[in-house]
Amino acid sequence: MRVAFLGLGIMGHSMASNLVKAGHEVSVWNRNPDKQVEGARSATSPADAASGVEVVWMCLSDTKAVEGVLFGPNSVEQSLTSGMIIADSSTISYSATLRFAERVKARGVDYVDAPMTGSKIAAEAGSLIFMVGGDEAVLARLQPLFQAMGKQVFHMGETSKGQATKLAMNLQIAMIYEGFAEAVTLAAKLGVDVEKLLPLIQASMVRSGVVDYKAPFILKRDFSPNFPLRLMLKDIRLALDAAKEARVRLPGLEAVEEVYDVAAEEGHQDLDYAATLTLLEKWAGVEVKAAAKAS
Ligand code: NAP
Repeated sequence: MRVAFLGLGIMGHSMASNLVKAGHEVSVWNRNPDKQVEGARSATSPADAASGVEVVWMCLSDTKAVEGVLFGPNSVEQSLTSGMIIADSSTISYSATLRFAERVKARGVDYVDAPMTGSKIAAEAGSLIFMVGGDEAVLARLQPLFQAMGKQVFHMGETSKGQATKLAMNLQIAMIYEGFAEAVTLAAKLGVDVEKLLPLIQASMVRSGVVDYKAPFILKRDFSPNFPLRLMLKDIRLALDAAKEARVRLPGLEAVEEVYDVAAEEGHQDLDYAATLTLLEKWAGVEVKAAAKAS
């Protein structure tokens, strides 16, 4: 298929590369023009990238970035043609998603929200899991693209239900990780060896994919960004905003937001969200490592 891919960050670069590898004709655009994808045409603007394609796929930081790329100067809007599909894998506001979908629908364009889970490793391996909102028939047309980038697609309902689902998913990731980080901090302070604790966690009902993914990085003290803390904080705020609109109370997530706020204030925003552990460690006066030692 002819596809424009907009946003070549941690996730988007691998996703666009996998589209090229699967034989699709891909044009790419990134705000910082230094980022390119081998085998794809580098476009000069979102409008240029979207010109003549069947599908525009986005993977951008936040709601504001998506709005600018779709409707700002030299934007996708200039190149819309009837029958085109816009798919958005960014995690953004579900209510803004509805507005964007409405605006392009007036031009005969379908809009699918397709946020994903799996992080950097799954983006590279082409094994992302997508949670999607949109028409069944439109999803069917996107199948070859989903196949190139992911291993599973969950159709959650009409447009915006993918984003709503993603907020519920990341709420859990943030809270499961924070539970794990608090547990290993307490255990380390009490003199338990985290290398002995990890197999116990994974043998018991406490086990989780979040621990599978994050524990090896923690043991190496590698907090380089797979999913940057600033983006998880954005998602926590999106979930709290949605909860407020829907009159839902999320006291646990509110507490986690405070930890992220302090971590961001302390300059950890571009590290992985796993770096919230370092704040707990600082407060406890301990470092979690293979053989934990009180500092
Ligand atoms: P990232 O590495 O920070 O990349 C963000 C991308 O958005 C870059 O291409 C960046 O361009 C672009 N961008 C930011 N602001 C922009 C603006 N105002 N106008 C145009 N482009 C703009 O982020 P990522 O990790 O790839 O994540 C992308 C999206 O996927 C986010 O919504 C994130 O929440 C979601 N997500 C991430 C993960 C993960 O594990 N990383 C997993 C699931 C979902 P520049 O290169 O010019 O800065």
